[in-house]
Amino acid sequence: MTTPADAPADLLVVGGDVVTMAPGREVVTGAAIAVADGRIAAIGTPGELRARFPASPELDARECVVIPGLVNAHQHTTADPLVRSMIPDDISSQEAIFDWIVPLHDQVTGDDDELSAALTAAESLLRGVTTLLEPGTVAHPLRVAAGLASAGIRARVGRWGWDVPGAAHALPAAETLALQEETVRALPPGGTVTGWVTLVGHDLASDELFTGAAELAERLDVGLTWHVSPSAADTRAYAERAGTAPVLHFRRLGVLGPRLLLAHAVWLDDAEVDAVIESGTAVASCPGAYLRLGQGYGRAGRHAELVRRGGRLALGCDSHNAGDAPDVLGAARLLAALERDRDETPVLRADQVFALATIDGARAAGLGELVGSVEVGKAADLVVMDTRDLSWTPRGDLATHLVWGAPAHTVRDVLVDGKVVVRDRRLTTLDADALRREAAERSAGLLRRAGLDVPHRWPVVPAGSYARRPS
Ligand SMILES: [Zn+2]
Repeated sequence: MTTPADAPADLLVVGGDVVTMAPGREVVTGAAIAVADGRIAAIGTPGELRARFPASPELDARECVVIPGLVNAHQHTTADPLVRSMIPDDISSQEAIFDWIVPLHDQVTGDDDELSAALTAAESLLRGVTTLLEPGTVAHPLRVAAGLASAGIRARVGRWGWDVPGAAHALPAAETLALQEETVRALPPGGTVTGWVTLVGHDLASDELFTGAAELAERLDVGLTWHVSPSAADTRAYAERAGTAPVLHFRRLGVLGPRLLLAHAVWLDDAEVDAVIESGTAVASCPGAYLRLGQGYGRAGRHAELVRRGGRLALGCDSHNAGDAPDVLGAARLLAALERDRDETPVLRADQVFALATIDGARAAGLGELVGSVEVGKAADLVVMDTRDLSWTPRGDLATHLVWGAPAHTVRDVLVDGKVVVRDRRLTTLDADALRREAAERSAGLLRRAGLDVPHRWPVVPAGSYARRPS
């Protein structure tokens, strides 16, 4: 406990209206937040906290709304960020994977991975996302971790892994698990970027690999994630493979439980929904991806039902060609809209959806004790939004405004672990111009090596030849 008037805080964030997302969901107006040793040390009036932490540096948050750092529980940081908006939007998700993503992942270098992760983290932070879970399509996890750390974001990272015979890069289960363990041990707890067990999932893992991964996560005391059922393809595959639905197969294997975060789990039948809820398994919902890839969320999705029944749901933004922007407030708005359109009661309200972007998402990712709300003792992951922007004028109900108004463009300052990583809308950690230049070079090189040509919908015409075109 800090004693009065004897130690300056590292920073006082002064004068903002703080959306706490604490159990009482209080919005504390005109508040000051003291940050010390990476944690929230106190919340009070500016007068009280200036007296208690004299001579502390201050961040003026008057005319601002301060929210907890947003949580993105499913964000690919490799390959895709270097080819954003390049995968055509009129092909199937299977074609996108096998004609684009797989050849790209075959060609990514460690340098590509590090830059691509830094780029994703930088863009995330500028949109108020302070925690990111990389769900395991990573060939060079330590390079990804370095890229994420260079931007200053909080993240969980694992290595890719699958063991189905015949798939490129597949390794036997034991080897896959050994590499998973190596990654987690190389990114130990305590830092802002630490390890998780991350299988790609779908139908690319044997039962031995699924159960081994669950045991490994338990033994190392870390989280575990894999993909399942964004579309109906996994349901069909498991009907053939196991004679049952994927989630019921996982239950039979004994791998469901609070440690597991399933990515997507869109196409679930009634028994699978029950199994997810009864086992306390979490789900990461990526509405932008379902819409972009035409995966039928509106027909099949059960995520609001999970929330209504007390299940654990987080939001994710998937990848730069599926969801397209690491923008958690954008994802919140899409999920709210998709669910509102069903016209089911009770409606999934904006305050519930904002909780998915913050405290409930943090809990789903196993990080609820650390982040997701502005409370004393928690990590100082804070986002200051400038409400002088006209998109905040006039300011309505805060939950409604934060979700339906999607004001991510008003993020002005961001703290992660008490460190200011965005100030006045600029990164303090990385040179955005250098990132941009390197990304352009690496993007061109990656496409060349993968043998991919980006189809442009409109003719691209240099000005010289445009001026000289025949009339
Ligand atoms: Zn994914």
